Amino acid sequence: MKIARWFKFCAAHRLPTHAGKCRSLHGHSYRVRVVLSGEVDSESGMIVDFAELDSDLGRYVQDSLDHATILDRADANGIEGARLLGAKLLLIDEEPTSEAIARFLVERFSVLAKELWRLRLDSIRVCEGESGWVEASA
Ligand SMILES: [Zn+2]
Repeated sequence: MKIARWFKFCAAHRLPTHAGKCRSLHGHSYRVRVVLSGEVDSESGMIVDFAELDSDLGRYVQDSLDHATILDRADANGIEGARLLGAKLLLIDEEPTSEAIARFLVERFSVLAKELWRLRLDSIRVCEGESGWVEASA
């Protein structure tokens, strides 16, 4: 059976090699849908309590991504500028497209779901604004 939970965060990012306006530092309101697969526990009647998803995965989103500046760790100018501004930084291994953010969360949440609940991460959907989304399968 599958279970899903939505989380929200706001973040800044930039795509330094983008030919258009996404080269500039700018922000989005993101929504993330986390889908997990597992068996229903016979005692609780649940795969996992939504409250646990909120307290563990939701906390990770708030602590690591919300109001962060998400940059490619190779983006030296972006990192220098964000540090001068005192920004909360999240550095990832590639330009922080929605696709890259989804892959980043697949890596993190696959481990967390397995360690915390012995559940398998199924997919991560990242919505950038209101009209577009990407989805990465685990
Ligand atoms: Zn953007």
